[in-house]
Amino acid sequence: MSVGTFGDYGGQYVPEALMPAVEELADAYERYVLENEDGFVDELRRHLRDFGGRPTPLQRAAALSERYGHDVYLKREDLLHGGAHKLNNALGQVLLAQYMGKERIVAETGAGQHGTATAMACAYLDVDCEIYMGRTDINRQRPNVFRMRTHDAAVNAVDAGSGTLKEAINATLRDWATNVEDTHYVIGSVVGPHPFPSMVRDFQAVISEEAREQAIEQIGDLPEAVVACAGGGSNTMGSFANFLEDESVALYAVEAGGDAITVEEETGVAPHSASLSAGEDGVLHGARTKLLQTEEGQVVESHSVSAGLDYAGVGPELAHLVDQGRVEPVHVDDDAALTAFHRLSQDEGIIPALESSHAIAYLEDADFDGPVVVTLSGRGDKDLDTVIEESERRDVAAAPSMGVFTE
Ligand SMILES: *Cc1c(COP(=O)(O)O)cnc(C)c1O
Repeated sequence: MSVGTFGDYGGQYVPEALMPAVEELADAYERYVLENEDGFVDELRRHLRDFGGRPTPLQRAAALSERYGHDVYLKREDLLHGGAHKLNNALGQVLLAQYMGKERIVAETGAGQHGTATAMACAYLDVDCEIYMGRTDINRQRPNVFRMRTHDAAVNAVDAGSGTLKEAINATLRDWATNVEDTHYVIGSVVGPHPFPSMVRDFQAVISEEAREQAIEQIGDLPEAVVACAGGGSNTMGSFANFLEDESVALYAVEAGGDAITVEEETGVAPHSASLSAGEDGVLHGARTKLLQTEEGQVVESHSVSAGLDYAGVGPELAHLVDQGRVEPVHVDDDAALTAFHRLSQDEGIIPALESSHAIAYLEDADFDGPVVVTLSGRGDKDLDTVIEESERRDVAAAPSMGVFTE
């Protein structure tokens, strides 16, 4: 299989019924995104600026720079409309669907962040939107369900399996295969069959396109390293894309170390989500990649304190870049991420997403000398309930007391 592969990874491992859909999309990706047919790229840039608020700042973080003895710059994707980098991709794909003449959007969501970004983009561009979400996730992410409905999206509960992201993706792929005539599937990360990994990377590459220019302007040079957190890998691929050719720039993908890097063979549960660091080759959701699985090849249930990093697979291109030695995979555990969350909130006046807190936390383990760019993929307002609960349960030292109102 050679279409859309990255070394051993990627491809189009889909049932026959889905082939027409992925082929039509691959053709549209090539024409509109790569060749700017009908001015697609220009229109997308206009929406990202006027609706999304791009460019986002590259900000020198004074307290972090002081603490680590080298300059730390934050790429502020938390300031993008919607509060995370996810809108870059959602807006790109919903606009592409319009150029393709599709009137209906379907998308999966786990924690609800991608579903919300998609619902937002659909409301803005006036397209019908249906989101598939696992029953378990619906029950634990009520506010995001309401955000999606507020934007007039239909939210469909998926009851299969454990009722989480993996099942939601399968349900969305099925819908797409049945309704390909009028429907586009907006996938949420650099995963899935070709052309999704390449296309989502290209939509997110605006992060490093801006960051590289901003670094040269503000630092007068390229950074020593770029650090970004990896769930499915769209934030990392977007943060790295324009630095790949700059050999002097080290690239770190920070995964969720959860509670420990192990897999319980009996239960098929992994208390972490570090598929780059601890995964084995396998096929999931249409692509060959690194996966968390049992010795029998069963995909395991992963864990992270941050819902957005909690995925057993990872983008095929990122897996390949790790194999090549261009990207170094590292991991940070739940406690360290929570500590970094509080540190950034207290010292920099920024409440980071728990996902992004993993990237911040890695600075504590790293040994950099020069300026480093860390992508702050999102803001953490959505995580406050989890942070208060988990900080108390784990006795996180940096956490302020939240008990004042209940005494
Ligand atoms: C979804 C999400 C992530 C992880 O997804 P990727 O595809 O790896 O980028 C990271 N940070 C934030 C804020 C998210 O919402």
